[in-house]
Amino acid sequence: MRNTAQAKRLRRAALERDGWRCRDCGQLAVLEVHHVRPVRERPDLAYSLDNVRTLCRPCHLRFHRRPETPEERRWREFAAGPV
Ligand SMILES: [Zn+2]
Ligand SMILES: [Zn+2]
Repeated sequence: MRNTAQAKRLRRAALERDGWRCRDCGQLAVLEVHHVRPVRERPDLAYSLDNVRTLCRPCHLRFHRRPETPEERRWREFAAGPV
């Protein structure tokens, strides 16, 4: 992740669009931003609102059935931080 300010804006926009709820189970708890197309495969979509969805931590883990890459880990840590 190269641009933290841009990433923060993206997270805020994603949370607002999704109503501050997990898109999968609807809960309001710890919310993270998941990339539909992984950043590893589509770095050009890393900051695209259309490519992210709000998920809670347990749902997010379900979406990732393999160990996360260092890049995904940075995104997760960023996504779990204060808005
Ligand atoms: Zn959930
Ligand atoms: Zn994810």
